[in-house]
Amino acid sequence: MANPAVGSVAIAGAGLAGRLLAWRLLRAGVPVTLIDARARSDRDHAAGVAAAMLAPYAELVVSDAHLFGLGEESLALWPRWLAQIREQTGEAVYFRHEGSLVVAHAPDYPGLAHYADLIRFRLPASKREEVQNLDGEGIAALEPEFAGRFARGLWLPQEGQLDNDQLLGALQDAILQAMARVGGQWLERTTVQSLNTHAVRTTDGVELRADAVVDCRGVAADWPGMRGVRGEVLTVSCPAVSLRRPVRLIHPRYMLYIVPRSGGRFIIGATELESKDAGPITVRSMLELASALYSVHPAFGEGRITRVATSLRPATDDHQPVWAQRDGVWHLNGLYRHGFLVAPALVQRAERDLLALLAPNRVSVQETVQ
Ligand SMILES: Cc1cc2nc3c(=O)[nH]c(=O)nc-3n(C[C@H](O)[C@H](O)[C@H](O)COP(=O)(O)OP(=O)(O)OC[C@H]3O[C@@H](n4cnc5c(N)ncnc54)[C@H](O)[C@@H]3O)c2cc1C
Repeated sequence: MANPAVGSVAIAGAGLAGRLLAWRLLRAGVPVTLIDARARSDRDHAAGVAAAMLAPYAELVVSDAHLFGLGEESLALWPRWLAQIREQTGEAVYFRHEGSLVVAHAPDYPGLAHYADLIRFRLPASKREEVQNLDGEGIAALEPEFAGRFARGLWLPQEGQLDNDQLLGALQDAILQAMARVGGQWLERTTVQSLNTHAVRTTDGVELRADAVVDCRGVAADWPGMRGVRGEVLTVSCPAVSLRRPVRLIHPRYMLYIVPRSGGRFIIGATELESKDAGPITVRSMLELASALYSVHPAFGEGRITRVATSLRPATDDHQPVWAQRDGVWHLNGLYRHGFLVAPALVQRAERDLLALLAPNRVSVQETVQ
Protein backbone atom coordinates (compact mmCIF):
# COMPACT_ATOMS: atom_id res chain seq x y z
CA MET A 1 0.00 0.00 0.00
CA ALA A 2 1.07 3.59 -0.51
CA ASN A 3 2.79 5.03 2.48
CA PRO A 4 1.57 8.63 2.93
CA ALA A 5 4.87 9.48 4.61
CA VAL A 6 6.74 8.66 1.38
CA GLY A 7 6.94 11.26 -1.37
CA SER A 8 6.28 10.67 -5.05
CA VAL A 9 8.65 10.37 -7.99
CA ALA A 10 8.18 11.41 -11.62
CA ILE A 11 10.28 9.52 -14.15
CA ALA A 12 10.74 10.79 -17.71
CA GLY A 13 11.38 7.87 -20.05
CA ALA A 14 10.11 4.28 -19.78
CA GLY A 15 12.85 2.37 -21.58
CA LEU A 16 15.13 0.11 -19.58
CA ALA A 17 16.24 2.55 -16.85
CA GLY A 18 12.82 4.17 -16.36
CA ARG A 19 10.91 0.87 -16.15
CA LEU A 20 13.34 -0.80 -13.78
CA LEU A 21 13.49 2.22 -11.46
CA ALA A 22 9.70 2.68 -11.49
CA TRP A 23 9.18 -0.98 -10.57
CA ARG A 24 11.69 -0.87 -7.72
CA LEU A 25 10.23 2.35 -6.25
CA LEU A 26 6.66 1.06 -6.50
CA ARG A 27 7.75 -2.14 -4.75
CA ALA A 28 9.03 0.06 -1.94
CA GLY A 29 5.64 1.80 -1.71
CA VAL A 30 6.54 5.00 -3.59
CA PRO A 31 3.89 6.38 -5.99
CA VAL A 32 5.45 6.90 -9.44
CA THR A 33 4.40 8.91 -12.47
CA LEU A 34 6.09 7.41 -15.54
CA ILE A 35 6.00 9.47 -18.73
CA ASP A 36 7.09 8.26 -22.16
CA ALA A 37 6.74 9.60 -25.68
CA ARG A 38 6.18 6.06 -26.99
CA ALA A 39 3.32 3.62 -26.59
CA ARG A 40 4.04 1.03 -23.87
CA SER A 41 4.24 -1.74 -26.48
CA ASP A 42 6.66 0.17 -28.75
CA ARG A 43 10.01 -1.64 -28.87
CA ASP A 44 12.03 0.77 -31.01
CA HIS A 45 13.88 2.34 -28.08
CA ALA A 46 17.38 1.07 -27.23
CA ALA A 47 15.88 -1.24 -24.59
CA GLY A 48 13.71 -2.95 -27.20
CA VAL A 49 16.38 -3.29 -29.90
CA ALA A 50 19.24 -4.53 -27.70
CA ALA A 51 20.63 -8.06 -27.73
CA ALA A 52 20.60 -7.95 -23.90
CA MET A 53 23.83 -9.89 -23.41
CA LEU A 54 25.18 -9.71 -19.88
CA ALA A 55 28.83 -9.78 -20.84
CA PRO A 56 31.18 -8.11 -18.32
CA TYR A 57 34.23 -10.00 -19.66
CA ALA A 58 33.75 -9.68 -23.43
CA GLU A 59 32.85 -6.01 -23.05
CA LEU A 60 36.16 -5.27 -21.33
CA VAL A 61 37.66 -4.58 -24.76
CA VAL A 62 35.55 -1.38 -24.73
CA SER A 63 34.98 -0.88 -21.00
CA ASP A 64 36.90 -0.84 -17.71
CA ALA A 65 37.07 -2.09 -14.11
CA HIS A 66 34.19 0.13 -12.97
CA LEU A 67 31.77 -1.24 -15.57
CA PHE A 68 33.05 -4.75 -14.92
CA GLY A 69 32.21 -4.36 -11.21
CA LEU A 70 28.73 -3.01 -11.96
CA GLY A 71 28.23 -5.90 -14.38
CA GLU A 72 29.17 -8.55 -11.84
CA GLU A 73 26.88 -6.97 -9.26
CA SER A 74 24.02 -6.84 -11.75
CA LEU A 75 24.52 -10.45 -12.87
CA ALA A 76 23.88 -11.48 -9.28
CA LEU A 77 20.81 -9.23 -9.00
CA TRP A 78 19.07 -10.22 -12.26
CA PRO A 79 17.93 -13.73 -11.22
CA ARG A 80 16.52 -12.37 -7.94
CA TRP A 81 14.72 -9.51 -9.60
CA LEU A 82 13.34 -11.77 -12.32
CA ALA A 83 12.09 -14.15 -9.62
CA GLN A 84 10.34 -11.23 -7.89
CA ILE A 85 8.75 -10.13 -11.17
CA ARG A 86 7.58 -13.70 -11.75
CA GLU A 87 6.15 -13.89 -8.23
CA GLN A 88 4.26 -10.66 -8.83
CA THR A 89 2.99 -11.20 -12.39
CA GLY A 90 3.35 -14.93 -13.07
CA GLU A 91 5.52 -14.06 -16.12
CA ALA A 92 8.82 -15.86 -16.65
CA VAL A 93 11.58 -13.96 -18.46
CA TYR A 94 14.14 -16.03 -20.42
CA PHE A 95 17.46 -15.70 -18.58
CA ARG A 96 20.60 -17.79 -19.02
CA HIS A 97 23.86 -17.67 -17.09
CA GLU A 98 25.80 -20.30 -19.03
CA GLY A 99 28.69 -18.29 -20.41
CA SER A 100 29.53 -17.07 -23.89
CA LEU A 101 31.84 -18.13 -26.66
CA VAL A 102 34.21 -16.12 -28.87
CA VAL A 103 35.35 -17.67 -32.17
CA ALA A 104 37.46 -16.57 -35.16
CA HIS A 105 38.20 -17.74 -38.68
CA ALA A 106 41.89 -18.62 -39.27
CA PRO A 107 42.95 -15.26 -40.84
CA ASP A 108 41.63 -13.51 -37.72
CA TYR A 109 43.59 -15.51 -35.09
CA PRO A 110 45.83 -12.50 -34.32
CA GLY A 111 42.68 -10.50 -33.59
CA LEU A 112 41.41 -13.27 -31.31
CA ALA A 113 44.74 -13.38 -29.44
CA HIS A 114 44.72 -9.60 -28.96
CA TYR A 115 41.10 -9.71 -27.79
CA ALA A 116 42.00 -12.32 -25.13
CA ASP A 117 45.12 -10.37 -24.05
CA LEU A 118 43.15 -7.16 -23.68
CA ILE A 119 40.43 -8.77 -21.56
CA ARG A 120 43.02 -10.46 -19.31
CA PHE A 121 44.99 -7.21 -19.01
CA ARG A 122 41.91 -5.30 -17.84
CA LEU A 123 40.73 -8.01 -15.42
CA PRO A 124 41.70 -8.20 -11.77
CA ALA A 125 44.41 -10.88 -11.46
CA SER A 126 42.05 -13.17 -9.52
CA LYS A 127 39.64 -13.32 -12.47
CA ARG A 128 42.09 -13.90 -15.33
CA GLU A 129 41.67 -17.65 -15.35
CA GLU A 130 37.98 -17.14 -16.18
CA VAL A 131 39.11 -16.36 -19.74
CA GLN A 132 39.80 -19.80 -21.18
CA ASN A 133 41.38 -20.65 -24.53
CA LEU A 134 39.55 -23.33 -26.50
CA ASP A 135 40.60 -25.63 -29.34
CA GLY A 136 38.23 -27.15 -31.89
CA GLU A 137 37.21 -29.98 -29.57
CA GLY A 138 36.51 -27.62 -26.70
CA ILE A 139 34.36 -25.44 -28.95
CA ALA A 140 32.39 -28.45 -30.23
CA ALA A 141 31.88 -29.74 -26.69
CA LEU A 142 30.13 -26.49 -25.78
CA GLU A 143 28.31 -25.91 -29.05
CA PRO A 144 28.05 -29.12 -31.13
CA GLU A 145 26.83 -27.08 -34.15
CA PHE A 146 30.40 -25.76 -34.48
CA ALA A 147 32.08 -29.21 -34.70
CA GLY A 148 34.76 -28.95 -37.41
CA ARG A 149 33.97 -25.30 -38.09
CA PHE A 150 36.28 -23.42 -35.71
CA ALA A 151 39.71 -24.44 -34.38
CA ARG A 152 40.30 -21.60 -31.91
CA GLY A 153 38.11 -19.72 -29.53
CA LEU A 154 37.58 -18.32 -26.06
CA TRP A 155 35.25 -19.44 -23.32
CA LEU A 156 33.85 -16.86 -20.89
CA PRO A 157 31.86 -19.02 -18.46
CA GLN A 158 30.58 -16.21 -16.23
CA GLU A 159 28.47 -14.40 -18.84
CA GLY A 160 24.73 -14.49 -19.46
CA GLN A 161 21.81 -13.10 -21.43
CA LEU A 162 18.12 -12.36 -21.07
CA ASP A 163 15.16 -11.74 -23.37
CA ASN A 164 14.63 -7.97 -23.36
CA ASP A 165 11.24 -8.14 -25.08
CA GLN A 166 9.90 -10.45 -22.37
CA LEU A 167 11.53 -8.34 -19.66
CA LEU A 168 9.96 -5.10 -20.91
CA GLY A 169 6.53 -6.76 -21.12
CA ALA A 170 6.78 -8.28 -17.64
CA LEU A 171 7.98 -4.98 -16.16
CA GLN A 172 5.07 -3.20 -17.80
CA ASP A 173 2.60 -5.56 -16.13
CA ALA A 174 4.40 -5.40 -12.78
CA ILE A 175 4.42 -1.59 -12.86
CA LEU A 176 0.74 -1.22 -13.80
CA GLN A 177 -0.29 -3.72 -11.10
CA ALA A 178 1.78 -1.91 -8.49
CA MET A 179 0.46 1.51 -9.56
CA ALA A 180 -3.09 0.30 -8.95
CA ARG A 181 -2.07 -0.61 -5.39
CA VAL A 182 0.47 2.06 -4.46
CA GLY A 183 -0.55 5.02 -6.63
CA GLY A 184 0.82 6.72 -9.69
CA GLN A 185 0.22 6.57 -13.42
CA TRP A 186 1.95 5.68 -16.69
CA LEU A 187 1.40 8.36 -19.30
CA GLU A 188 2.22 6.82 -22.69
CA ARG A 189 2.51 8.78 -25.97
CA THR A 190 3.31 11.84 -23.84
CA THR A 191 6.42 13.85 -24.67
CA VAL A 192 8.36 15.61 -21.94
CA GLN A 193 9.43 19.13 -22.81
CA SER A 194 11.28 20.17 -19.66
CA LEU A 195 12.14 19.03 -16.14
CA ASN A 196 12.96 20.79 -12.90
CA THR A 197 13.43 19.79 -9.25
CA HIS A 198 9.73 19.15 -8.59
CA ALA A 199 7.92 19.20 -11.94
CA VAL A 200 7.78 17.70 -15.41
CA ARG A 201 6.24 19.76 -18.19
CA THR A 202 4.87 17.95 -21.23
CA THR A 203 4.58 19.30 -24.77
CA ASP A 204 0.78 19.41 -24.21
CA GLY A 205 1.42 22.08 -21.57
CA VAL A 206 0.60 19.80 -18.61
CA GLU A 207 2.68 20.21 -15.46
CA LEU A 208 3.13 17.08 -13.32
CA ARG A 209 4.45 17.72 -9.83
CA ALA A 210 6.45 15.27 -7.71
CA ASP A 211 8.83 15.24 -4.75
CA ALA A 212 11.68 14.05 -6.97
CA VAL A 213 12.16 14.03 -10.74
CA VAL A 214 14.38 11.56 -12.64
CA ASP A 215 15.49 11.90 -16.26
CA CYS A 216 15.67 8.46 -17.94
CA ARG A 217 15.18 9.65 -21.53
CA GLY A 218 18.19 7.84 -22.94
CA VAL A 219 19.70 9.66 -25.87
CA ALA A 220 17.22 12.55 -25.40
CA ALA A 221 18.31 13.17 -21.80
CA ASP A 222 19.33 16.66 -20.75
CA TRP A 223 22.93 15.76 -19.86
CA PRO A 224 26.07 17.54 -21.16
CA GLY A 225 27.60 15.75 -24.12
CA MET A 226 24.95 13.02 -24.34
CA ARG A 227 25.14 11.51 -27.82
CA GLY A 228 23.55 8.66 -29.74
CA VAL A 229 25.58 5.75 -31.11
CA ARG A 230 23.66 3.99 -33.83
CA GLY A 231 23.22 0.23 -33.66
CA GLU A 232 21.50 -2.05 -36.19
CA VAL A 233 20.37 -5.62 -35.48
CA LEU A 234 18.55 -8.45 -37.24
CA THR A 235 16.28 -11.05 -35.72
CA VAL A 236 16.65 -14.35 -37.58
CA SER A 237 14.40 -17.35 -37.17
CA CYS A 238 16.47 -20.47 -37.88
CA PRO A 239 15.31 -23.61 -36.04
CA ALA A 240 17.88 -25.63 -38.06
CA VAL A 241 20.69 -24.16 -35.92
CA SER A 242 20.82 -24.84 -32.22
CA LEU A 243 23.06 -22.72 -29.94
CA ARG A 244 22.87 -22.48 -26.16
CA ARG A 245 24.82 -19.32 -25.55
CA PRO A 246 25.86 -16.02 -27.17
CA VAL A 247 28.64 -16.35 -29.74
CA ARG A 248 30.92 -13.51 -30.83
CA LEU A 249 32.87 -13.62 -34.07
CA ILE A 250 36.18 -11.77 -34.16
CA HIS A 251 36.31 -9.80 -37.35
CA PRO A 252 38.79 -7.14 -38.51
CA ARG A 253 36.14 -4.48 -39.11
CA TYR A 254 33.28 -5.06 -36.65
CA MET A 255 32.11 -7.22 -33.81
CA LEU A 256 29.40 -9.68 -34.78
CA TYR A 257 27.38 -11.51 -32.17
CA ILE A 258 24.68 -14.16 -32.39
CA VAL A 259 22.44 -14.35 -29.36
CA PRO A 260 20.06 -17.32 -29.12
CA ARG A 261 16.53 -16.79 -27.89
CA SER A 262 13.68 -19.22 -27.34
CA GLY A 263 11.83 -20.76 -30.33
CA GLY A 264 14.79 -20.99 -32.75
CA ARG A 265 15.28 -17.22 -32.90
CA PHE A 266 18.61 -15.37 -32.90
CA ILE A 267 19.48 -11.70 -32.45
CA ILE A 268 22.29 -10.78 -34.84
CA GLY A 269 24.21 -7.61 -34.13
CA ALA A 270 25.38 -5.12 -34.10
CA THR A 271 26.79 -2.21 -35.97
CA GLU A 272 28.22 0.65 -33.96
CA LEU A 273 28.23 3.94 -35.82
CA GLU A 274 28.84 7.48 -34.61
CA SER A 275 25.49 8.78 -35.78
CA LYS A 276 22.28 10.18 -34.31
CA ASP A 277 20.35 8.77 -37.26
CA ALA A 278 17.91 6.11 -36.05
CA GLY A 279 16.54 5.56 -39.57
CA PRO A 280 16.26 2.18 -41.34
CA ILE A 281 19.26 -0.13 -41.76
CA THR A 282 21.62 0.59 -44.66
CA VAL A 283 22.29 -1.93 -47.43
CA ARG A 284 25.92 -2.07 -46.36
CA SER A 285 25.08 -2.93 -42.73
CA MET A 286 22.57 -5.56 -43.81
CA LEU A 287 25.16 -7.17 -46.12
CA GLU A 288 27.87 -7.13 -43.48
CA LEU A 289 25.73 -8.59 -40.70
CA ALA A 290 24.14 -11.24 -42.92
CA SER A 291 27.38 -12.32 -44.61
CA ALA A 292 29.26 -12.57 -41.30
CA LEU A 293 26.38 -14.65 -39.94
CA TYR A 294 26.53 -16.96 -42.96
CA SER A 295 30.28 -17.37 -42.44
CA VAL A 296 29.64 -18.66 -38.90
CA HIS A 297 27.29 -21.40 -40.10
CA PRO A 298 25.91 -21.86 -43.64
CA ALA A 299 22.61 -23.21 -42.25
CA PHE A 300 21.83 -19.60 -41.30
CA GLY A 301 21.51 -19.01 -45.06
CA GLU A 302 18.03 -20.54 -44.94
CA GLY A 303 17.02 -18.55 -41.84
CA ARG A 304 14.24 -15.98 -42.10
CA ILE A 305 14.89 -12.36 -41.17
CA THR A 306 11.85 -11.53 -39.05
CA ARG A 307 12.87 -8.13 -37.75
CA VAL A 308 15.34 -5.43 -38.74
CA ALA A 309 15.79 -2.77 -36.10
CA THR A 310 17.85 0.33 -35.46
CA SER A 311 18.25 2.38 -32.31
CA LEU A 312 20.60 4.77 -30.56
CA ARG A 313 22.75 3.86 -27.57
CA PRO A 314 22.81 6.77 -25.10
CA ALA A 315 26.49 7.56 -24.55
CA THR A 316 28.35 10.08 -22.39
CA ASP A 317 31.76 11.48 -23.40
CA ASP A 318 33.65 8.95 -21.25
CA HIS A 319 31.16 6.10 -21.83
CA GLN A 320 30.46 5.89 -18.10
CA PRO A 321 26.87 5.58 -16.88
CA VAL A 322 25.41 8.41 -14.85
CA TRP A 323 23.50 8.36 -11.59
CA ALA A 324 23.68 11.92 -10.32
CA GLN A 325 21.69 15.05 -9.50
CA ARG A 326 22.14 18.15 -11.62
CA ASP A 327 20.23 21.42 -11.18
CA GLY A 328 17.79 19.60 -8.87
CA VAL A 329 16.92 16.85 -11.39
CA TRP A 330 18.18 13.28 -10.95
CA HIS A 331 19.71 11.53 -13.95
CA LEU A 332 19.96 7.81 -14.60
CA ASN A 333 21.56 7.68 -17.95
CA GLY A 334 24.47 7.11 -20.32
CA LEU A 335 24.00 3.34 -20.28
CA TYR A 336 25.55 3.20 -23.77
CA ARG A 337 26.11 -0.44 -24.90
CA HIS A 338 25.93 -1.79 -21.35
CA GLY A 339 22.41 -1.02 -20.17
CA PHE A 340 21.31 -4.57 -19.40
CA LEU A 341 24.75 -5.38 -18.07
CA VAL A 342 24.81 -2.62 -15.45
CA ALA A 343 21.23 -1.42 -14.89
CA PRO A 344 20.33 -3.41 -11.74
CA ALA A 345 23.41 -2.18 -9.85
CA LEU A 346 22.76 1.44 -10.84
CA VAL A 347 19.03 1.24 -10.22
CA GLN A 348 19.72 -0.16 -6.77
CA ARG A 349 21.85 2.91 -6.00
CA ALA A 350 19.12 5.16 -7.37
CA GLU A 351 16.47 3.41 -5.28
CA ARG A 352 18.58 3.77 -2.14
CA ASP A 353 19.27 7.50 -2.69
CA LEU A 354 15.67 8.34 -3.59
CA LEU A 355 14.26 6.45 -0.62
CA ALA A 356 16.70 8.22 1.68
CA LEU A 357 15.55 11.56 0.21
CA LEU A 358 11.82 10.84 0.30
CA ALA A 359 11.56 8.97 3.60
CA PRO A 360 14.81 9.45 5.49
CA ASN A 361 13.66 7.52 8.56
CA ARG A 362 12.41 4.41 6.87
CA VAL A 363 14.36 1.19 6.88
CA SER A 364 16.27 0.71 3.61
CA VAL A 365 14.90 -1.92 1.25
CA GLN A 366 18.28 -2.32 -0.42
CA GLU A 367 19.16 -5.90 -1.21
CA THR A 368 22.76 -6.79 -0.74
CA VAL A 369 24.54 -9.32 -2.89
CA GLN A 370 26.14 -12.00 -0.74
C1 LIG B 1 21.78 -2.43 -31.17
C2 LIG B 1 21.92 -2.40 -29.66
C3 LIG B 1 22.39 -3.51 -29.00
C4 LIG B 1 22.54 -3.50 -27.60
N1 LIG B 1 22.96 -4.62 -26.98
C5 LIG B 1 23.14 -4.61 -25.64
C6 LIG B 1 23.57 -5.78 -24.96
O1 LIG B 1 23.75 -6.84 -25.57
N2 LIG B 1 23.76 -5.72 -23.62
C7 LIG B 1 23.56 -4.57 -22.91
O2 LIG B 1 23.77 -4.57 -21.69
N3 LIG B 1 23.13 -3.44 -23.53
C8 LIG B 1 22.92 -3.43 -24.87
N4 LIG B 1 22.50 -2.31 -25.51
C9 LIG B 1 22.37 -1.07 -24.73
C10 LIG B 1 21.04 -0.90 -24.02
O3 LIG B 1 19.99 -1.20 -24.89
C11 LIG B 1 20.92 0.54 -23.55
O4 LIG B 1 22.04 0.86 -22.75
C12 LIG B 1 19.66 0.79 -22.72
O5 LIG B 1 18.51 0.35 -23.38
C13 LIG B 1 19.52 2.26 -22.39
O6 LIG B 1 18.38 2.38 -21.57
P1 LIG B 1 17.69 3.78 -21.36
O7 LIG B 1 16.49 3.52 -20.51
O8 LIG B 1 18.69 4.77 -20.89
O9 LIG B 1 17.27 4.27 -22.82
P2 LIG B 1 16.11 3.71 -23.74
O10 LIG B 1 15.96 2.26 -23.54
O11 LIG B 1 16.38 4.21 -25.13
O12 LIG B 1 14.79 4.43 -23.19
C14 LIG B 1 14.63 5.84 -23.27
C15 LIG B 1 13.14 6.14 -23.23
O13 LIG B 1 12.95 7.55 -23.13
C16 LIG B 1 11.85 7.91 -23.95
N5 LIG B 1 11.95 9.32 -24.31
C17 LIG B 1 12.93 9.93 -25.03
N6 LIG B 1 12.66 11.26 -25.14
C18 LIG B 1 11.50 11.48 -24.47
C19 LIG B 1 10.72 12.63 -24.19
N7 LIG B 1 11.09 13.86 -24.60
N8 LIG B 1 9.59 12.49 -23.48
C20 LIG B 1 9.20 11.27 -23.03
N9 LIG B 1 9.90 10.14 -23.25
C21 LIG B 1 11.04 10.26 -23.94
C22 LIG B 1 11.97 6.98 -25.15
O14 LIG B 1 10.73 6.88 -25.84
C23 LIG B 1 12.40 5.67 -24.49
O15 LIG B 1 11.29 4.89 -24.14
C24 LIG B 1 22.27 -2.30 -26.88
C25 LIG B 1 21.77 -1.19 -27.55
C26 LIG B 1 21.59 -1.22 -28.93
C27 LIG B 1 21.01 -0.03 -29.62
